[in-house]
Amino acid sequence: MKRTAPWISIGIVAAIVGLLTVFMALLYNWQQAASVAEKEQLQRRVEADAKAFADQFNREIQGTFFNFQVDPVRVENGDASEIAERFDYWKKNSAYADLIKEMIAFTGDHEPRRFDETTQSFVSITADETVERLRKQLASEPRTGPIMGGGYTLAVPLHAAEEKLQKIVIRRKVEATEIPMDLPKPNGHIVVFLNESVIREKMLPDLAAKHFPNGDFNVGVTDRGGQTIYGTMPIGETNDAKEPLFDLTPDQLIWIANRQAMPRTVTEGDSHMVLDQRIESRTITQGDAAKVEAGQTFTVQMKETGTNRRTTVFNGDPRADSPWQLGVQHSAGSIDAFIQNELNRNLAIGFGIYLLLLGGIISIVYSSLRAKAFAQRQIDFVSSVSHEFRTPLAVIYSAGENLADGVARDGDQVSKYGNLIKGEGKKLSSMVEQILEFAGARSGNRKYNLADGDVSAAVEKALIDSEQLLKVGGFEVESDLSKSLPSTSIDRDAIETAVRNLIQNAVKYSNGSRWLRVSTMNGNGSIKIVVEDGGIGILPADRKKIFEPFYRAKDVVDAQIHGNGLGLSLVKEIVEAHRGKVSVESKKGNGSRFVIDLPQS
Ligand code: ADP
Repeated sequence: MKRTAPWISIGIVAAIVGLLTVFMALLYNWQQAASVAEKEQLQRRVEADAKAFADQFNREIQGTFFNFQVDPVRVENGDASEIAERFDYWKKNSAYADLIKEMIAFTGDHEPRRFDETTQSFVSITADETVERLRKQLASEPRTGPIMGGGYTLAVPLHAAEEKLQKIVIRRKVEATEIPMDLPKPNGHIVVFLNESVIREKMLPDLAAKHFPNGDFNVGVTDRGGQTIYGTMPIGETNDAKEPLFDLTPDQLIWIANRQAMPRTVTEGDSHMVLDQRIESRTITQGDAAKVEAGQTFTVQMKETGTNRRTTVFNGDPRADSPWQLGVQHSAGSIDAFIQNELNRNLAIGFGIYLLLLGGIISIVYSSLRAKAFAQRQIDFVSSVSHEFRTPLAVIYSAGENLADGVARDGDQVSKYGNLIKGEGKKLSSMVEQILEFAGARSGNRKYNLADGDVSAAVEKALIDSEQLLKVGGFEVESDLSKSLPSTSIDRDAIETAVRNLIQNAVKYSNGSRWLRVSTMNGNGSIKIVVEDGGIGILPADRKKIFEPFYRAKDVVDAQIHGNGLGLSLVKEIVEAHRGKVSVESKKGNGSRFVIDLPQS
C-alpha cells in the first residue's frame, strides 16, 4: 500500500502555506501603517473637537462680556435703558438665557447699583463684603484683568463713547512695561455675575455631549488651582487634547457691544461696520510675528468696509490667563493606547484567521490522505476477500466434481466429501457473516440486546466455539475466567463474537507458537477480558491503526496471511457500543495482549 503523499501535493500545500505567511506579513505591515494614519486622524479630530468645544464655550462667555460695554455717562446718571436693551439683545442671542445671574454697575463715586431685569432699571444695594471687595479691586492699580472670582465674575470696563471706538482694553499684562501706556482708564465697570450651576450643570455637559457624543473620550475641566469644575478626569500631560476656557480673545466679533456695529444698525444705514464678515486683522506687536504665544500681546483692529480707517483696537495677550482648562482623553487611557489595542486586536484576528486557514489546509490534507489510504484499503479488502473465498470455493468445487463424477462411490468417501463441503461452506458463511456484521455495525443499524449477563460465561462460550480451530492448530489454551465477576449489562452474542475474533487472530498470527491465554478479571470499576498470545506481535506504528477497518499490517500482507482487516474493527465497534475500550500491548516477535475493558453497570 502506498502511504506517502505525492511530492506534488506536498509542493502545493507548501506553496499555499508560504503564500498565506507572506499575506500575513503584508497584513501586519499594512495594519501598522493604517494604525499610524488612524492615530494621526484621531488626534486631529480630537483637537478639532476640543477646539470647537472651547470656541462655543468661550463664545457664550464672551457674549456676557463684550455685550455690556455701554456708555458710562448714561450708567452714571442712572439711565439703565442701554443696559436693558443690551440685556434683551443678549438674551435673544444666547443659548443659555439664565447664564447671567446678576449685574452690578460701579461708576464714579456712586454706590454700586444692581440692574433689575423686571423693572429694567438700576436699584440700590447695600454694599456687603463681596461688593466692597470688588469695588476695591476695580479701583486698584495696576488694574485687574476682566476675569475675577475664578471665572464666575466678569468686570466689563466702561469707556467714554469716543474712546470706546478707538481703544477698548480687554485684557492686560500685570507687568507694567507690557501695558500700552496710552490706554484709557475706564470710567466705570459693569460686573457680570455668572450662574455657576448653569455653567457646571448645563453648558459643560451639553458641550461634552455635543462634541464627544460616543463616550470614547473623557472630558474634564479644571480651574487654575487644579480644582475640578466638570468631569472626573485629571487634566495634565497625558491628555490627548487641551484647550483654554474663559478665553476672552475677541475672535467672536458678533458680540461686540458697539452700537454702530450692530447688524440691526447696518440696515438703518448709519453703521460702517459689518461684523459678521469678520473684518479684523491681527498684528503681533511683540515677539516673533510668525507665532502668537501666551504672554505675547496682540492687537486686533477693526476696519470700516471700503476705507482704511481703523475704528476699534483690542489689545491683549492670547490665552495667557484663561482661568480654566479643558482636557480630553481617550477612554482607553490615550489615543496611543486605543490605537495599540485596536492594532493588537486586528493582528490577533488576522493571526486567528491565519491559524484557521492553516488548520483548514492541514485537516483537508490529512483527511484526503486518510480517504486515499482508506480507498486503498478497500481495494486490498476486495482482493483479499476474493482470495479468501477462492480456496474454500475451489475445495467445494473439486469435492462436488468428484461426487458428480462418481469418484467417491462408497458411503465413507461420500461422507468425507460431504464433510469437506460442509466445513468449507461453514468457513465461507462465517466470512460472509463477519462482513455483514461489519456492514451492519458501520451503518449504525446494528441493534445490541443489552441485558444483565455474565462476562466469563460469554468468554467461555467463545472458547468452546473456537475449540475445533484450537484443536486443529494444536494450541495449548490457558484460561482463567473469574467466577466472581459482577453481572453487567452486555449483549452476550456480540461479546462472544468479539472474543472469538481475538482468539482467531491469536491463532492466525501465532507464527508457530502454540500458546494462548484467555482470562477475565475484575478491574478498577471495570471488567477486563484479556486475550494473550505468543505470536508475531505488532509494530508500534501498526498498533494505532489495526482497529481501523480494512487495515492490515504490512508484514502480514507480505507473509500472505489471509484476512480482510475487519475483525478488530468489529471488536472495537462492539466494545464501544458497551461504552468500553479495547487496547493492545505487544512486542514485535513476542506476542500480543489484547485487553477489553467493559464498564460495570
Ligand atoms: P485480519 O486479521 O483479517 O487482517 P483484523 O482486523 O482482525 O484483520 O486485524 C488487523 C491486523 O492487526 C491484522 O492484519 C494484523 O496485522 C494485526 N493483528 C491482529 N491481531 C493480531 C495478533 N494477535 N498478533 C499479531 N498481529 C495481529
